[in-house]
Amino acid sequence: MSRWKCGIEGCDAKFEDVESTIIHQTVEHERHECKVCGTIVPEGYFAIRHAFDEHTRAEYVRAYEADSTAVRTREDVKGEIEAQADLGNVVEQLRERGAL
Ligand SMILES: [Zn+2]
Ligand SMILES: [Zn+2]
Repeated sequence: MSRWKCGIEGCDAKFEDVESTIIHQTVEHERHECKVCGTIVPEGYFAIRHAFDEHTRAEYVRAYEADSTAVRTREDVKGEIEAQADLGNVVEQLRERGAL
C-alpha cells in the first residue's frame, strides 16, 4: 500500500514510507530557491521545513502569494511528516549519498 505521494508539482511518485518520499524529493527533484531569503534548499519536505522554521507565516504568504489554506495544508504535511518520519535516519542517508 502506498500511502505517501511525492506531491511536488507534476510528480506522481508514490511510496510506502515517508522516509523514501523525502529521499526521493531531495535526490530526484531540482533544488528550490526560497522566495523569502534566496537560500537553496532541497525541494519537498526540506523546502517546507525551511519556509516555516526560518520565516514567519506572513513572510511566506507574501513571498509565495499563498492563502491561509495553502499555509495550513503545508503545516499539516510538515506536522504529519515530523510525527511519522525518522528524520535523523533520513538526514544520515542523504548525507551518505552526498545529497545534503
Ligand atoms: Zn517527486
Ligand atoms: Zn528562506
